[in-house]
Amino acid sequence: MIQRLIDWLDESTCNFLAVKTICRELDAAGFLRLDARDSWRIEKGGRYYLTKNDSAVFAFIVGTASPAEYGFRIITSHSDSPCFKIKPNAEIYGEGGVVSLNVEKYGGGILYTWFDRPLSISGRVMTKGADPFHPVTTLVDLKKPVCTIPHLAIHFNREVNEGNKLSVQKDMKPVIGYFSEEKIKEFKEKGGVVKSIVAEHLGISPEDIIDYELNLYPLQPATILGAGDEYFQSARIDDLSMAFASIEALLAESGHDAEATRMAAVFDNEETGSATKQGAHAPALRSLLERVTSAVAGGDSDAFHRAVANSFMISADDAHAWHPNYNEKYDPTNHPVIGGGPVVKINANCKYMTDGDGAAVFRSLCEEAGVKCQYFVNHADVAGGSTLGNILTSQLDLRGVDMGAAIWAMHSAAETAGVADHLDCVKVFRRFFR
Ligand code: ZN
Repeated sequence: MIQRLIDWLDESTCNFLAVKTICRELDAAGFLRLDARDSWRIEKGGRYYLTKNDSAVFAFIVGTASPAEYGFRIITSHSDSPCFKIKPNAEIYGEGGVVSLNVEKYGGGILYTWFDRPLSISGRVMTKGADPFHPVTTLVDLKKPVCTIPHLAIHFNREVNEGNKLSVQKDMKPVIGYFSEEKIKEFKEKGGVVKSIVAEHLGISPEDIIDYELNLYPLQPATILGAGDEYFQSARIDDLSMAFASIEALLAESGHDAEATRMAAVFDNEETGSATKQGAHAPALRSLLERVTSAVAGGDSDAFHRAVANSFMISADDAHAWHPNYNEKYDPTNHPVIGGGPVVKINANCKYMTDGDGAAVFRSLCEEAGVKCQYFVNHADVAGGSTLGNILTSQLDLRGVDMGAAIWAMHSAAETAGVADHLDCVKVFRRFFR
């Protein structure tokens, strides 16, 4: 199972490709794809999925009973990770024909982990469709090292190891090659280097590309590491490890009937605050739960509210593992370790949705699944991050818990997590879906 996770991480080099990977697995397992524009025929026991913007996906198995009576069991996660997005008109032409790319930071990454690595480009391009309202979307992944962000030599900044403030606009521009004057002229006529190489990869003409959403990604593949193979390291572990664990569990339990309607919801744009139509701030989940409830329970106006009251949500987003070099950053009694099992996240000021009730449910599920469980609470003088749980509860008054696997170097170009923890998360998610 860990090899499957490694393969999925390597394929899912951006939000769009993560959703594509998930959809492929759902198709293979016989889930029916729904289109939000159609009217739906939803049947008890049926398996369905819906995507939003190609970058969020909601997979669900309708319960054998009405959601009004048994509610929804939902695991949420996110498809996006901090990276660099390539701006339009990206090419900056320099000395000797060197071409750099103008990029914008997406989310809050650790910038210097992106230097001096082979980088590739993935995302989606839009080409002309039947009419202006329906451009054709094509996903793309160049899958080869096409650029790098070279660091300044230490000889020009002897204090670099004393702390080095970075500007995205100045310091983080990747170099994509150097070209002859004629070649640069040709690129310019075709809309630039990026459009030209992406078009060539897709076998289309660069002039056909109306627009794109492309990002850089580190090409280094995910790997198992540690003297006893206890860790795995990859880009995008936050939060694809949880997204894939929820899908893995849903697929594994799809052979068993359950009264509750089970759902894995993978949102986009968590790293920028979730405020998009495919993010957790949008009414996408609420609308979906309403539609499914009314399709199964008929026109009963109470049904949706009863379904919400009978539901439980696990907001699954990775947590900070205790770091042996920085003990002072952690809470003295609640610092989860890699290998210690799934982590329940608690915050007194409600940045997490976990309360005593939600934590008790999750801990009981862990116990039944035979899985250890630990707590993360911030050091009282350190402001922590936030996640999906309380964003969703602002529009859906669900019971639930915020949890995740403990990882190191969150938002680095290479994060590290525990193999056993991942397997334990899948186990407890399977118990939740049983
Ligand atoms: Zn996250």
